Amino acid sequence: MKNRTLFCDVTVIDIQQEQPVLNHRYVGVSDGKIAYIGEEKPEEFRDARSVDGKNKVLMSGLINSHTHIPMTALRGYSDDTDLQDWLYNKIFPIEDKFTKDTIRIATQLGVMEAMSFGTTSLSDMYFFSDEIASVCAQSKIKANISRGAHLFTEEFDPTAHQAMVEQNELLQKWNGYDQGLILIDCAIHGEYTTNYKMWEYVRDLAASWNTRIQIHLSETQKEHEECIQRYGMTPTAVLHRHGFFDPSVVAAHCVYITEEDMDILKEKNVTAALCPVSNLKLASGRADGNKMLQKGINLSLGTDGVASNNNADLFEEIKLTAMLQKERAKDPTCFEAQEVLQMATRGGAIAQGRQKETGTMAVGMDADLILLDFDKPHLYPCHNVLNNLVYSAKGSDVCMTMVRGQVVYENGEFKTLDREKIIYETNKILMPTLFGTSHL
Ligand SMILES: [Zn+2]
Repeated sequence: MKNRTLFCDVTVIDIQQEQPVLNHRYVGVSDGKIAYIGEEKPEEFRDARSVDGKNKVLMSGLINSHTHIPMTALRGYSDDTDLQDWLYNKIFPIEDKFTKDTIRIATQLGVMEAMSFGTTSLSDMYFFSDEIASVCAQSKIKANISRGAHLFTEEFDPTAHQAMVEQNELLQKWNGYDQGLILIDCAIHGEYTTNYKMWEYVRDLAASWNTRIQIHLSETQKEHEECIQRYGMTPTAVLHRHGFFDPSVVAAHCVYITEEDMDILKEKNVTAALCPVSNLKLASGRADGNKMLQKGINLSLGTDGVASNNNADLFEEIKLTAMLQKERAKDPTCFEAQEVLQMATRGGAIAQGRQKETGTMAVGMDADLILLDFDKPHLYPCHNVLNNLVYSAKGSDVCMTMVRGQVVYENGEFKTLDREKIIYETNKILMPTLFGTSHL
């Protein structure tokens, strides 16, 4: 039958269980859902595609809860640079040159990379978001797309503000597309790049659509302290005063938030999306994930844009999150493997408002699954599958990525995207348009 798959004799990771490693299991996928998990080979899957699970690990797909996919075009373009110089002299001038075509190519490239590294759902904040939504829809990757917005003037007319106009168009056109494959989130870029008029408008817009808001929050010390000078309050506190956290909010970074800020985030059910690679590369700092976890705040992981990462491999975020938090707390027992994997899966699903459909290995959930090949030198011996997943595995160990039961990536091949064409167009169209060169 169509789109029925049976993973045979595979090691299953179910993060929700106290003992999350389930050996020698059969997992049946039918109609896009996980239909069976058990120790016996199910009769009803005898006509399904059979996938040999020997030396392989099957788990929920990873969720990248903070990224700017088209920034994939800027990979390696400007590294080892001061943040202000990097942004104003390198990144912004190239972003000004983006066209519909180059956004499409960069997004296709970024989605290919994400899929090959085991990401089944991502949250994006950028511009040309209609194009980004279109690529994600064609690629069959789940995506929460938002239009980043700035406001540097006192006057604010949402009907004339380009980002707000586009945000509204996105909601109308894409929210819930393909039975929720694409969801539209609202967004403001950050406290320091907007003002209360936009906060209140976006708050009400998100509430009226029952959708979420994406924001950068206290990413750098400068931004955090300038807000205190401006308003006498932290970014979290001033946004809270305007009811900004009343809808569901995903706050990226949260490096400088105070304990009082954390109490607000907990009270308002805000997700903190940690982006450790980007924070380290731009020398922004390290979020206090340990304290946030103790407060009961939902944590998820994000790569941020590839310009500050320089890849979309969430396994790097997983390992680095564990290591950084241990170092920050001076406690190697905190941020255990299971906890960090939970952030990369269910934590991300909660951030996206998708926890009823994805992020958990359970019958009835969408079959958003990844299969990892553990028959690699760096994964032997395997005393503990979870430890190897967190501390030894890489995105390139993913050999199959499935979204809603449909294989989108398998053993180097992309099923919904044309790899050769995308690479060709990257060299022949994207590079000359943005950088004036076709060199690799
Ligand atoms: Zn970002």
